Amino acid sequence: MAKYIFVTGGVVSSLGKGIASASIGLLLKSRGLKVTLQKLDPYINVDPGTMSPYQHGEVYVTEDGAETDLDLGHYERFTGQTMTKDNNVTAGRIYYSVIEKERRGDYLGGTVQVVPHITDEIKRAVKKVGEREGVDVVIVEVGGTVGDIEGLPFLEAIRQLRNEVGRGNALNVHLTLVPYIRAADELKTKPTQHSVGKLREIGLAADILLCRTEKPFTESVRQKIAQFCNVAPEAVIQALDVKDVYEVPLMFSAQHLDDTILRFLELRRPAHDLAAWRAQVVERALHPKRRVTVAVVGKYIQLQDAYKSIYEALRHGGLANDAAVDVKRVDSEQIEKEGAAAVLDGVHGLLIPGGFGHRGIEGKLEAIRRARETRTPFLGICLGMQCAVIEIARDLCKLSGANSTEFDPKTPHPVIALLEEQQGVTAKGGTMRLGASACQVAKGTHAHHAYQRAEIAERHRHRYEVNNRYLDRLTRAGLVVSGTYALPRKAGGGTLVEIIELSDHPWFVAGQFHPEFRSRPLEPHPLFRAFVEACLNKAAGKGAPKAARRSPRVRSAKR
Ligand code: GLN
Repeated sequence: MAKYIFVTGGVVSSLGKGIASASIGLLLKSRGLKVTLQKLDPYINVDPGTMSPYQHGEVYVTEDGAETDLDLGHYERFTGQTMTKDNNVTAGRIYYSVIEKERRGDYLGGTVQVVPHITDEIKRAVKKVGEREGVDVVIVEVGGTVGDIEGLPFLEAIRQLRNEVGRGNALNVHLTLVPYIRAADELKTKPTQHSVGKLREIGLAADILLCRTEKPFTESVRQKIAQFCNVAPEAVIQALDVKDVYEVPLMFSAQHLDDTILRFLELRRPAHDLAAWRAQVVERALHPKRRVTVAVVGKYIQLQDAYKSIYEALRHGGLANDAAVDVKRVDSEQIEKEGAAAVLDGVHGLLIPGGFGHRGIEGKLEAIRRARETRTPFLGICLGMQCAVIEIARDLCKLSGANSTEFDPKTPHPVIALLEEQQGVTAKGGTMRLGASACQVAKGTHAHHAYQRAEIAERHRHRYEVNNRYLDRLTRAGLVVSGTYALPRKAGGGTLVEIIELSDHPWFVAGQFHPEFRSRPLEPHPLFRAFVEACLNKAAGKGAPKAARRSPRVRSAKR
């Protein structure tokens, strides 16, 4: 039977519960345990797929095509475990299934209530992950902050579950803030005491406290927290600010957090092995040999979390090249106002991430044109690839007004058009082309050079695709189709364009998928690794790495 670690947060939000949970995951994995993680989100949306990045940050897409919370990205990056739709559960999804059951008549005769029906459903969702083959420990992170009204059913479900599994099989980790008050020159423990008191009100004890603090605390502060919050002194862990998030697991292990957890869970395991993490991730991140600047041109650049996995994958690409990647975040509308030359001066690479809607598109097109003309490395992701195709159609194929039907339904040249399977789809939630699908990579291309494989799988989240009717014209102008997806026969056969490149450019590669979701610090994604390498070459004034020069044949899909 799996054991459970419940991670809650108190005092304020944004303390980094996701990173803390992921770090615990890595620590336990390093002790030879099979871990998985789950995020419980108390909001009513069934999944975050319909939320704006302003509300929620990035939507992380899993292999099995679930649109999930960005914390699942941390889980995958830190632990290397593959998350599924069951690893993120929202209140909306819980209510949805309870209401479906009610309509079906499953509770016939009864009154359906938060307790026990909603709480039972939550417990079922948590146990479902725990029952997975070989899982030793499930780390369950509860979104929001203790005291939130909407979080109550989740905390009540946890309370019940703890009782059911009994001592030694479940553990509560509570993340709090110990603020430093400058005027008094003191660290204050009262908010932590209040937060633990709040947990106690609903019948939950904190076993381990992770205290976010900007200053290391003295032994007396630790003792005070331990005494007032009723935890063992060694269970009061300082979560100090670190230079790099990948240091967090090392900081925790230096305070023997993993030993303390194992003791609570009555588990004996060999000492941990974090050598690779330390040497290949943390040391490299802290002491890069080179630096390079990459512009990320998007719509939500003010927001730290909107392109989380992109920024992380760029960092991984840097790690693979012993380099730091300085990201210049650029609002595409700024390019529309000031011009690409002024805004992108001095950058060594351009990345256009995924996105939706027409706002800011012209700025992205201008940025791509500049990267093409100045032979600056370019990586386009999903919408970024669609923009590259539009730019090439307009500028190299002279198809004036070329566009995606998403941005201009009446365009004379719909070089990007709705996927066949999307015709007639009107509901917005979970209806895109989602999740991993196979892609054939053509030999002799930059993509093949990066992946070193003829078949890959990548995750998707889109409704539009390259219109194969324009492929001949595009390839004659120098576009190389280096990755394709073979449509099943029942879908009419043919292929979808998945990766494009430019023949006459040092490194211009774009994919219809999201490679950033598969990048890990210990296994940087091949495209990000190759992109950063190309950017370093650009910075050093070197030309193109050797790769493909010719467009492989692509059979046109029936449309
Ligand atoms: N809006 C585009 C589409 O739906 C691109 C989506 C994306 O970048 N994720 O096809």
